[in-house]
Amino acid sequence: MDRVDIVVAGGGAAGLAAAAAFGTLGLRVVCVDPAPEDGPDPAGDLRTTAILAPGRVVLEGAGLWEGIANHATPLRVMRIVEAGGPRPVRRDFVAGELGRTEFGWNVPNRILRRAFAARLAALPGVDLRRGVGFASRLAGAEEVVVGLTDGRRVAARLLVGADGRHSAVRAACGIGARVLRYGQKALVLAVCHETPHEGVSTEVHARGGPFTLVPLPDHEGSPCSAVVWMTDGAEARRLLALSPEALAEAVNARSAGVMGPLRPVGPVQAWPVVTLTADRLVARRTALMAEAAHAVPPIGAQGLNMSLADLGALVALARERPGGIGTDAWLRDYARMREPDIRLRAAGIDLLNRASIAGAAPLRLARGLGLRAMHDLGAVRRGLMRLGLGLDRPG
Ligand SMILES: Cc1cc2nc3c(=O)[nH]c(=O)nc-3n(C[C@H](O)[C@H](O)[C@H](O)COP(=O)(O)OP(=O)(O)OC[C@H]3O[C@@H](n4cnc5c(N)ncnc54)[C@H](O)[C@@H]3O)c2cc1C
Repeated sequence: MDRVDIVVAGGGAAGLAAAAAFGTLGLRVVCVDPAPEDGPDPAGDLRTTAILAPGRVVLEGAGLWEGIANHATPLRVMRIVEAGGPRPVRRDFVAGELGRTEFGWNVPNRILRRAFAARLAALPGVDLRRGVGFASRLAGAEEVVVGLTDGRRVAARLLVGADGRHSAVRAACGIGARVLRYGQKALVLAVCHETPHEGVSTEVHARGGPFTLVPLPDHEGSPCSAVVWMTDGAEARRLLALSPEALAEAVNARSAGVMGPLRPVGPVQAWPVVTLTADRLVARRTALMAEAAHAVPPIGAQGLNMSLADLGALVALARERPGGIGTDAWLRDYARMREPDIRLRAAGIDLLNRASIAGAAPLRLARGLGLRAMHDLGAVRRGLMRLGLGLDRPG
């Protein structure tokens, strides 16, 4: 039986980042994922991830930023447009107001995974095993013995469950999860436009959920953005079945012209939208992180950034108390550091999503008024920006 410091279950963006961060600390790590090389469908994840400033710090610490820096498009302004009322309300949240050049950086998911896997290959203490999943755990006072789907076993001081929203680690620990469903899907696609985006990420609210344009590098000389379009399931199915011309028409109608005419490039994908919070973050010799612990609708770029905050907490504890890794007290501190922030963000995003779904005219009007109120008071605006960025955390 192999013996290491940490087993990471899950080789998605979060699990790979965790394996790299622990490996960078000089810990011995085994990271397992049943999906083949580069994730379940390498060319297939069309999503992009906006990494916010605190998330970048965690990635830099794990030696992961270098591999993605050249593919990262800076985000300087967060524009919110309320297009559901009688007159559009448009408000800008500008990074410069917080003394920053940018809020974050947008990176295609396939680049993230490839760059993270390349970093792991350069870390001698990290063993990334593809095609092998977590199967079982036997946790004792001193170590956890992890059973893998290939029949092998690995003993470790800590098991990290980063195995996604249907986490087998969470189930093996007997930890339940609260799941809120909205009947929504998030459609993702890329669009080109004539107007340069100038680092502006734009969220358009009308009904059915937000429609967000996030800056990408130019495509064949044209400015480009990633679209995340949240809408109800039936409408998503209808949109997915449209001809390219009809889809382009629908995209342009929904964008309310905020970026001029949009030209979809490449395929469209639909992703499920839920809020999920695990009942607990820890069990004996085991910590849950990322979507195994929390999933939120794709609003305000919180998903992976919350996961990087989980990782930041685990790394801080591993640095401060390396001898205590995986002990009850160490795990209790991890839960204490992360639970209030996760609860606050999951509740906040749930609320924003429900408000954005609202189709009734008075509710849309209220949303416009709410946007004005939140934006036009300087202190409230700056406070919200700091909170959204993760510069201020409860707990
Ligand atoms: C449309 C959309 C847009 C988004 N945009 C952003 C954004 O801009 N910014 C942001 O911060 N977040 C964003 N998110 C969220 C972000 O994409 C996710 O938080 C992140 O990709 C999830 O990472 P993960 O590694 O936790 O989960 P996953 O990517 O689901 O990875 C889990 C991994 O676990 C593996 N696994 C499954 N079973 C086992 C097992 N038994 N043993 C071991 N491994 C197992 C799976 O194969 C998978 O590779 C977005 C999400 C969506 C849907």
